[in-house]
Amino acid sequence: MNGKVILVGAGPGDVELLTLKGKALLQQADVVVYDKLVGQGVLALIPPTARRINVGKRANNHPVPQHQINQILLDEALAGNLVVRLKGGDPFLFGRGGEELELLVKHGISFEIVPGVTSALSVPAYAGIPVTHRDFTSSLHIITGHTKSAPEAEIDYPSLVKLNGTLVFLMGVSAMESICNGLLAGGMPPDMPAAVLERGTTAHQRRIVSTVQNLVCDAQAANVQTPAIIVVGRVCALAEQFHWAEDRPLGGVRIVVTRPRELSSKLTQKLRTLGSEVVELPSIQTAAIENNTVLHSALNNLSRYGWITFTSPSGVRIFFEELRKMRQDIRSLAGLKIAAIGSATAHELEARGLFVDLIPNTYNAGHLGAELGAVAKGMRVLITRARVGSHELTAALDAAGVPYDDVPLYETLYTCENTDMVRTQMENGEMDYVAFTSASTVRGFVGAIGDFDFSQVNAICIGEQTASEALKHHMKTATAQAATIDSMVDLLVNLRRQK
Ligand code: SAH
Repeated sequence: MNGKVILVGAGPGDVELLTLKGKALLQQADVVVYDKLVGQGVLALIPPTARRINVGKRANNHPVPQHQINQILLDEALAGNLVVRLKGGDPFLFGRGGEELELLVKHGISFEIVPGVTSALSVPAYAGIPVTHRDFTSSLHIITGHTKSAPEAEIDYPSLVKLNGTLVFLMGVSAMESICNGLLAGGMPPDMPAAVLERGTTAHQRRIVSTVQNLVCDAQAANVQTPAIIVVGRVCALAEQFHWAEDRPLGGVRIVVTRPRELSSKLTQKLRTLGSEVVELPSIQTAAIENNTVLHSALNNLSRYGWITFTSPSGVRIFFEELRKMRQDIRSLAGLKIAAIGSATAHELEARGLFVDLIPNTYNAGHLGAELGAVAKGMRVLITRARVGSHELTAALDAAGVPYDDVPLYETLYTCENTDMVRTQMENGEMDYVAFTSASTVRGFVGAIGDFDFSQVNAICIGEQTASEALKHHMKTATAQAATIDSMVDLLVNLRRQK
């Protein structure tokens, strides 16, 4: 049976401007075809099971020609796939969405369109420019600076000027000079406010507000690059009063967050709420060990133990799944005291109705071992954790003379999605920080990025152990005061304030 093609508007860059419908469909896609304007945050939502086809660049850095893109969409749909065609902004506004549908219609392929938040409206909004305002203008015109037939569009400037509305030019950076000259020759007053807005809605958005007469000169001085839009009209002057995006507590900051995929991204959400652009790098995946006979035998002999310890939220989750598989419930833990390495792990236990008896003062394996060693004298400890766990926990118990069984629950796998983009941004100095919530996320990040001079990386670390892992790779580190997500966020806000 034939598949289906869905043209999805990805919005202008900020992932939170992707529509709910677009996100839901993206997460069901078998194949995702995207080009270069699609934001990194949106690309990070592509499920790992979906095949990605980047038509924004080929090996020689030229985009795939349109007729080939049309053919890819057709072929993938004929092969029975649910194909999501992701396009920057809105798919029909200078997005060639119409051209892509023609071949599909000819072959009877079904399709849907999910409109997107267009850059023409959202980029001015993020720059504090209302595209209409009753005191200044009552119409808005969106114009391309580039057409299929001519590299510079043939625009009827005198008519445009007469409309007396706000003019938004897309794809106009290289034609900026001819646009401004055309408007002036068409009768526009030279001091008419005009702006060029680069990479709008991203952390590194820039706004150059000038006049029609001086825009080219000012844009050149600022070295403006695509993507950028040009806005002409009196509303541009309002930006000085209405700018807001970069004024948020974490506005202008781009951060990588490395997290296990399964965990909800509390950190990401908080950072985005405060205005930063977050790129998630799910560099660690955990996989429960199958047919875990060591664990099963420990679970059958729980009465041997006085304490049980957990060293990660994933570990808690997998432990209770295994318990359930064995048709045991939490009553079988009734005689045990419970230790957790930190507050996130303790929360995971509380969610299952268990309050922990011990959390170390400093959230790391060495302190957990030492504090446990002091209270577990004469008892046996059941350690449940990753197959490759920190040696410091067992060393501290050995030193205290407390016997234990070290039972592996899961393997830690490294995956690398989105890493090429992150690496390029780090090379270009466009990644402000990388946030690490554990030593293993540092290892996962380093493993995913590969050979790289990590001394350029500004690492925001949840605690000492994480920071010492980051230091091993010569990163510049800053460590949260308390080992919590909130404290990491506070640290970032303070660093941003000092900038
Ligand atoms: N369909 C898209 C526009 C595609 S044409 C939309 O609705 O937004 C490509 C042009 O869009 C670029 O040349 C640039 O002028 C503009 N553009 C897209 N994203 C932008 C962004 N984040 N910041 C500034 N301009 C952007």
